[in-house]
Amino acid sequence: MNLWEEYHLATSIHDALQTLATAPGSARVIAGGTDLLLDLQQGRHAPVHSLVDIILIPELSCLEVRKPGIFIGAAIPLQRITASSIIYEHARALQEACGLIGGPQIRNTATLGGNVAHALPAADGTIALLALNAGAEVVDLKHTHVMELQELFLGPGRSALHPQNELLIGFHLPLAGDSDGSAFRRIMRPQGVAIAILNMGVWLRRADDIISDVRIAVGPGGPKPFRAKKTEDFLRGRKMDDAGITRAMDILISEASLRTSRHRATSDYRRHVAKVLLEDTLKTAWERSHQE
Ligand SMILES: Cc1cc2nc3c(=O)[nH]c(=O)nc-3n(C[C@H](O)[C@H](O)[C@H](O)COP(=O)(O)OP(=O)(O)OC[C@H]3O[C@@H](n4cnc5c(N)ncnc54)[C@H](O)[C@@H]3O)c2cc1C
Repeated sequence: MNLWEEYHLATSIHDALQTLATAPGSARVIAGGTDLLLDLQQGRHAPVHSLVDIILIPELSCLEVRKPGIFIGAAIPLQRITASSIIYEHARALQEACGLIGGPQIRNTATLGGNVAHALPAADGTIALLALNAGAEVVDLKHTHVMELQELFLGPGRSALHPQNELLIGFHLPLAGDSDGSAFRRIMRPQGVAIAILNMGVWLRRADDIISDVRIAVGPGGPKPFRAKKTEDFLRGRKMDDAGITRAMDILISEASLRTSRHRATSDYRRHVAKVLLEDTLKTAWERSHQE
């Protein structure tokens, strides 16, 4: 049985949406194909009539400062994000996350849009984007709108995007101020390639020795990409010191759902790792937030 019948290389957003909407059977967007083709081949996704390739659509391949923030096209290969000086300056957590995904071959092909649209709670790019407060630009045949990233997720592997009516165009991130810093860390199994035992993205803003604002994203911390809001609330307005970090670790492991998974890790191990990652990502983001 064929895994698909037709492959369409879209040249514009309208072309992609029109082809998806009018396909005579089920149709799916394909970007790098590093998730979708494996899912089709290994039977996790039913065969489709049409695949609509979006990588040649110019709007989805932009990476630029677009004031008041930056814009990252959904179909940009991860390698371009890793190598971008704009991302290095304004979104270090994302630069680190994209640089850890797969190996060079995967990063030359896989896209940030695909990482997010696949909707896994521990996808590395997704967790970094969440910490950085990214908005997702989504288009259908009538409207374009920017959604909060978390609105895109319904559950593990379940995206809120309508597969035949909507397209993720890209992500909007705020520019980093002089007293902002971010970092991303993860722990993998030694031979692991795709999904972390635990990953974490932290963004913070400092005012002298105080954490004036902070965002912490954890994967997997629940069925959807998780923001540790109780831990954030505790840290916001506090001095950055070891006593605060120790208390924050306990709050984090009580609010995140750090479950045992058959293939990756026990709950106990994840709880241990969460503490180590929190200390490391917080301290790294804090060092980066120092004004020169
Ligand atoms: C060997 C290997 C190692 C990997 N390592 C990691 C890792 O370390 N960390 C990690 O997080 N992931 C990892 N992955 C997973 C994968 O590479 C990423 O999730 C990748 O970013 C997906 O992007 P893609 O362009 O290949 O998506 P695709 O496979 O093309 O698409 C994935 C899904 O998103 C949808 N989609 C894609 N683009 C859009 C869009 N613009 N609008 C709407 N829907 C869209 C597709 O229809 C499909 O449902 C790995 C995969 C492999 C094979």
